[in-house]
Amino acid sequence: MSATTHPYATIEAALQVVAKEARGVPSSADPDVCRYCFRAKDPSYAQCFGCRKLMLAGVSTSLLARVVPLSTALDPGPWYSRMSSYKLGTPDNMYLVAAAAYAALTGFREQFRTMLGGEPDVACVVPSSKQDVAPKEHRLYRSLRLIHAAAGLPVEPLLTHVAGETRTRNDINPKMFTGDKAAVAGKRVILFEDTWVTGGTAISAAKVLQELGVLSLAIVPIARRVESKSVSGFTWGAPYVARVEALPWNPDALVWPRP
Ligand SMILES: [Zn+2]
Repeated sequence: MSATTHPYATIEAALQVVAKEARGVPSSADPDVCRYCFRAKDPSYAQCFGCRKLMLAGVSTSLLARVVPLSTALDPGPWYSRMSSYKLGTPDNMYLVAAAAYAALTGFREQFRTMLGGEPDVACVVPSSKQDVAPKEHRLYRSLRLIHAAAGLPVEPLLTHVAGETRTRNDINPKMFTGDKAAVAGKRVILFEDTWVTGGTAISAAKVLQELGVLSLAIVPIARRVESKSVSGFTWGAPYVARVEALPWNPDALVWPRP
């Protein structure tokens, strides 16, 4: 595939490892699943606490409805460990992350087409505000470049983190990122994020793409992180965690959450 060393002969071999370690995404039709981010929620509320905070920060539900997590990473758990260590540049873990993206891009092209109103033009990544690296050195960018030719969708570094700009938990800050209007305007873009926690960083990046004139947008976290212990502490959270623990991830049957 490339000069990067990894122990998997094929994308399919990597996907078998992902299937063993990643968990599936529960159905948003379940009353204890947030319809936007698929985290556990109190069944008496319409969405989870985190998504409610994003809405209070001015994020529209139509933007939140564009979030399509590819897997659940229970923390602690093997997939969450992979998602953490790929950031150190571990080649085999970078390839697993890439394989999960490949499965979605190839298996669900029709759904992306529907969501975007046409064939996607380009994919990009949410730049990390912690990794102080050039856009082309970003781990998720480098991971996706391993599969972008095979998946038939170019991956470009459309966004750059603005040094010194951060955000607080459950809030957004579109000043965190900047991008080239000419590269974004009028494009159908798939924005990849590695791990979704509150979603504030990914939504901030999505807002910047909108400001730059993106034609349409899908927001695709490789994994939705769920902290098993704290979620299980809620009476409505424990059954959710037990269900996700038993929910296999299957590249041929990814849960496509949008009708
Ligand atoms: Zn949510």
